[in-house]
Amino acid sequence: MILRTLAALLFAATVASSAQAQLLKPRGVQFDQFVADLWKDAQAKGISRGTFARAFDGVTPDPRVIATTTKQPEYNKPAGLYVNQIASPANANEGRKKEVQWRSTFDAVEKKYKVERSVILAIWGMETSYGALKDKWDGIRSLSTLAFAKYRDPYFRNELLIALKIIQDGHIAREKFVSSWAGAMGQTQFMPTNFVDYAVDFDGDGKRDIWTSVPDILASTANYFAKAVGGWKMGMPWGFEVAVPQGFDLMKSRAAFDEWSKLGVRRADGKPFPQTGDGILFFPAGLPGPAFIVTPNFEVIKDYNDSDVYALAIGQLSDMIAGSPIPKTQWPAQATQLPRDDRIALQKKLAELGYDQTRFTAHIDFKMRDFVRAEQKKYGLVTDGHPNAALLANMGLKRS
Ligand code: CA
Repeated sequence: MILRTLAALLFAATVASSAQAQLLKPRGVQFDQFVADLWKDAQAKGISRGTFARAFDGVTPDPRVIATTTKQPEYNKPAGLYVNQIASPANANEGRKKEVQWRSTFDAVEKKYKVERSVILAIWGMETSYGALKDKWDGIRSLSTLAFAKYRDPYFRNELLIALKIIQDGHIAREKFVSSWAGAMGQTQFMPTNFVDYAVDFDGDGKRDIWTSVPDILASTANYFAKAVGGWKMGMPWGFEVAVPQGFDLMKSRAAFDEWSKLGVRRADGKPFPQTGDGILFFPAGLPGPAFIVTPNFEVIKDYNDSDVYALAIGQLSDMIAGSPIPKTQWPAQATQLPRDDRIALQKKLAELGYDQTRFTAHIDFKMRDFVRAEQKKYGLVTDGHPNAALLANMGLKRS
């Protein structure tokens, strides 16, 4: 009996010491220095020594995270292919099932936050297939790897410090703190700062649990939309596909709905424009592709993820979930978007030319599309506001 206990103890000791050896495996002087420096900032933000030590226990930089940052991102895919993969009948059907399953929660969330359930469902479906796709990365390890590598510095370092606060506040246990490779957390993929700004405890257990509590997830996402730039306007469509008349002056990009109507622009679904409000004319794949008029709600979706095709995919998926048939959009098969480096080069060139271009992050907004229209006009190109290879060539910019 005693011998068996001793043997068990010895075995346990061996396991413990090998685990310890793993933890003590040298993780590099530079990473240790990074953690030591971080502690000073963490302490200043009210993180306890205990939280900090537990968070970094055994954490090493993750080479897979760095490898992921260099992968070719989504936007080399043609816009139409991307949008149609997200705004698919299968995704819409699944969304409607989730709506039935969580109907009373959606009733309460819609009442409190004034954001339609269809758009919350679309975000949930897009980000994690309604929770079916689970976060697989250790959030602290991913964020510290990106911060240590000074990737988009100081963004990830700040996110990491906030992540430590979330753990300290007890919303999630350290070992359950999982995220995407880039630190986006839970079923609708909040970054730590989003969590602090928008996550809410809707099931009343005292924790803001965006990983497993569906009421918390849905309410937090609605709260984001309610408070994001401009704020979601309930009852206002995100936008709609339109047809522009022959010979339409494409320099015109912004107008009130009644003016669009007078100019002969028509909704593709045949419905009338809203009574009041403004919209922006937008060609996500250039003139050969579909035209849309988008509202300020589109900008709210872009605040969630700053990509036109993302927002378009969310908008169309939400319409399908709500049961509105969407027009059979004809997308040009070959219309890829400009790679990130080309977008940044274009942004810098626009600023050099004296346009009020102040963002150099590769993200394209409607202000930039108007600058692009002006340059297209200068070179006698179609003024659809959509930057492409022909424009870059005319402006003397080399393709990356
Ligand atoms: Ca909760």
